[in-house]
Amino acid sequence: MKSLRISTLITCLAAAQACAAGMGPQPAPPDAETFTLGEFRITSLRDSVNVVPNDGSVFGADVAPKAVAEVLREAGQKTEAIELSVDALLVRRGSEAIVIDTGLGPAIPGSLAGSLSQAGVTPDEVTTVLITHVHSDHIGGLVSPDKQSAFKHAAVKISEPDWKWLQQQPDMAELTGVIGPQVKTFTPGEDVATGIKSVRIPGHTPGHVGYMISSKGETLLDVGDTFHSAIVSLAKPDWAMGYDSDLAVGRTSRREVLTQLATDHQLIFAPHFPYPGVGWIVSRDDHFEWSPKK
Ligand SMILES: [Zn+2]
Repeated sequence: MKSLRISTLITCLAAAQACAAGMGPQPAPPDAETFTLGEFRITSLRDSVNVVPNDGSVFGADVAPKAVAEVLREAGQKTEAIELSVDALLVRRGSEAIVIDTGLGPAIPGSLAGSLSQAGVTPDEVTTVLITHVHSDHIGGLVSPDKQSAFKHAAVKISEPDWKWLQQQPDMAELTGVIGPQVKTFTPGEDVATGIKSVRIPGHTPGHVGYMISSKGETLLDVGDTFHSAIVSLAKPDWAMGYDSDLAVGRTSRREVLTQLATDHQLIFAPHFPYPGVGWIVSRDDHFEWSPKK
């Protein structure tokens, strides 16, 4: 098992030269794209971009960067890095405003607050925040630039195993101190809001979950970090992913979930796929492809 790296994504902040070279977390302009799902209004919220070097440590952690480069070349992409969007989701019904994941937060800074504003929602109007897992690109935005809770009136729901793990990370003590009073834990698989059920998808973190949003026969699954790149993760789902806390379990989850999503023609939101990250997984021979919702 690879060691759990909670701050992987912000390491480039400490190594300014890597950031200057355009690697690591990068700002992105705010954006908000809304569609309807039964009684819900769903909005993709843009936060930032993470440029992951093709150095064998993250994508294809068990193969050579040369093999990853070949997949990227075939897709017409640059071969020295994999660009990931970092996005979040807003789910509204009546006066309820639920945010799923919160981007990188003030460190970059992420554009989540600006994207929420474009959607017509203030942070104080958010009623619930649901976290897929406690990596910094999903929980960073829970804290505002002045080190206060960014969503003062919201219940912050985190799976029990991930909350326990987060509290053990010394470098996250400030964040857990700020959000602690608002946190409500749940067991993966439980309902977390009316029409929203957490889905246990193991391997990425101790309590990683997706969220199945259902209304009037329509469904959308926020897959969290079950897979990361719309190119590499789908072309080579069995390659190890360095961000997974358990590489073997993450690999198994990825193929199982991708197979199920393709079979069910399940609409998904993938926070690291190209913005707005909404569409379908399609099965092709031994691998998969991304079909974005137009
Ligand atoms: Zn992530």
